[in-house]
Amino acid sequence: MSDMTDESMTYCAVHPDRETGLRCNKCGRYMCAQCAVSTSVGYRCRECVRQVDDKFFTGTGNDNLIAGAVVGGGAGVLVFLGALTGIALFWLAAFFIGIIAGGALAEAAFRAVQKRRGRYTPIVVAVAALVGGFGGAFLAGRPFAIGIFVLIGIIAVLAYRRFEYK
Ligand SMILES: [Zn+2]
Ligand SMILES: [Zn+2]
Repeated sequence: MSDMTDESMTYCAVHPDRETGLRCNKCGRYMCAQCAVSTSVGYRCRECVRQVDDKFFTGTGNDNLIAGAVVGGGAGVLVFLGALTGIALFWLAAFFIGIIAGGALAEAAFRAVQKRRGRYTPIVVAVAALVGGFGGAFLAGRPFAIGIFVLIGIIAVLAYRRFEYK
């Protein structure tokens, strides 16, 4: 009777009915194809992947505030000046200003929080760019120009992507 059991057979830790030889390279538990997650450092179980994710998101609520203030304030000043001088009303000029200044702004915000990423920081900085940017445009009296939309949109996207966890 006992000779029917193959001692070398191993089963998924989550699904005991599934035979598998695959192990998590961090905690060593057996996992089936459905439970295994392919990461840049090899196959891992879902539990270990989640733990690494939590460690990666070191940002705090304060960081969201600081990053949002830098991006929102910067976008406000930039759009205000761009709209007031009329430069930002030309969408091609707005495009280039957005790429350069938006990138610099995103980088400044990222450094202001010691390069920590929070789970919600991408959304916070994107919203801050929209609020700050349109605030600046309204103050300058030019909220509805295509160039203004282009400028604010680019700043929001660049800020979002700087804090995005890929
Ligand atoms: Zn594991
Ligand atoms: Zn499984």
